[in-house]
Amino acid sequence: MEKTKLEIIQTQLEVIRKEYITPHYIRIYLTGEDVARINNTTIGVNNKVLIPPKGVDKVYFPEFDYENRQWKPMSEAIRPIVRTYTHRGIDLIKNEIWIDFVAHGDEGPASSWALAAKAGDVLGILMKDGKTALYSKANNYLLVGDATAIPVLGAILEDLPAEAKGTCIIEVHGKEDEQSLYTKADIQFTWLHNESPQKESALADTLKIYKLPTENRFAYVAAEFSTVKSIRNYLRKEENWKREELYAYSYWKSGVAEDKSAAERHDENE
Ligand SMILES: Cc1cc2nc3c(=O)[nH]c(=O)nc-3n(C[C@H](O)[C@H](O)[C@H](O)COP(=O)(O)OP(=O)(O)OC[C@H]3O[C@@H](n4cnc5c(N)ncnc54)[C@H](O)[C@@H]3O)c2cc1C
Repeated sequence: MEKTKLEIIQTQLEVIRKEYITPHYIRIYLTGEDVARINNTTIGVNNKVLIPPKGVDKVYFPEFDYENRQWKPMSEAIRPIVRTYTHRGIDLIKNEIWIDFVAHGDEGPASSWALAAKAGDVLGILMKDGKTALYSKANNYLLVGDATAIPVLGAILEDLPAEAKGTCIIEVHGKEDEQSLYTKADIQFTWLHNESPQKESALADTLKIYKLPTENRFAYVAAEFSTVKSIRNYLRKEENWKREELYAYSYWKSGVAEDKSAAERHDENE
């Protein structure tokens, strides 16, 4: 049977303004012709951001070779750097979307781009068109993540019904990086602090202190590779969570650029 090819939204957006929502989190507001089309997607889904090389003021979109599952080669002078982020919000009246970037320094092109971004800069966006369910319905939720997961966990929390209960454990740089996340649900929040997210995350160990729900449950876990691996093992092997009760996805790998760790993270994820 012939597979239907998913429609992809491919668009160049322009920075309108940026704000520090906390000392280590930058919200970038973007506008462009396709904002209304992005409204077909779900807040909290991931997107690809394409960052043009320094000095290039236009995004040259790479073409994907579906047969070999890789991008077709492109001249280095114009080739954008591709990273994965989260569609965090949209305002159709202002014709803008926003994406929240962890400011983890200049060593990563995406973080570095966000730190330097100013009105008029351009960013390419690739997204799957259409609505997506971010999480499975349950009565009891376990939401765990580091700073990179705040956009998706924030979107899930905003969507949960008032009857839902749960625990949300998030690790950020420091007290001043805690965010106020809106939810109607009955959620117990724990914020952990870690000034060196490349090492020493306390998420996995902290989770073990909690009494976890035993039925009608769903967990969403997104963080650094080794943390996600450890939490997945704990929930699946020690706490007997079934595959469908858990979405655990590593969002980055310590010491490795996102595109270089994608294959390994994908193999681990479930
Ligand atoms: C589905 C998905 C959704 C995501 N959504 C978001 C989002 O909305 N906001 C967001 O900020 N991130 C998000 N991420 C994570 C983001 O893609 C990675 O953090 C990415 O590595 C950042 O790219 P970079 O160019 O800044 O750094 P890279 O070039 O990828 O890495 C350079 C170095 O920085 C380190 N590094 C990468 N990220 C961090 C970090 N957060 N803290 C400390 N060191 C780091 C790497 O280990 C590496 O040593 C998401 C990832 C996935 C898979």
